[in-house]
Amino acid sequence: MTKQQTTSKYQYVHPDPAGNPEEKLLICPTCGEQLLPADIEAFSTCPYCNTKLEFSNDLEDFILSPLISHWIQAVRNRQTAGRETGYRR
Ligand SMILES: [Zn+2]
Repeated sequence: MTKQQTTSKYQYVHPDPAGNPEEKLLICPTCGEQLLPADIEAFSTCPYCNTKLEFSNDLEDFILSPLISHWIQAVRNRQTAGRETGYRR
């Protein structure tokens, strides 16, 4: 029996795949609104229709994804800043 496993129960969109491929929005399964990770990180609830989103691995990844890209960015910035503070006249 071939049972296809649906690992992702939510749909996502990439608003700017060329400029920012890391950024994604979650489509609310009830009202179809596009939700930011910040919209759901506190309550896991759609702010538009109050649907309780079931917490799952991919939902957790979605909430954490901007943090992870922020960390990567912060590390890069620190490396650049370190080089710049060494530059003095
Ligand atoms: Zn909704």
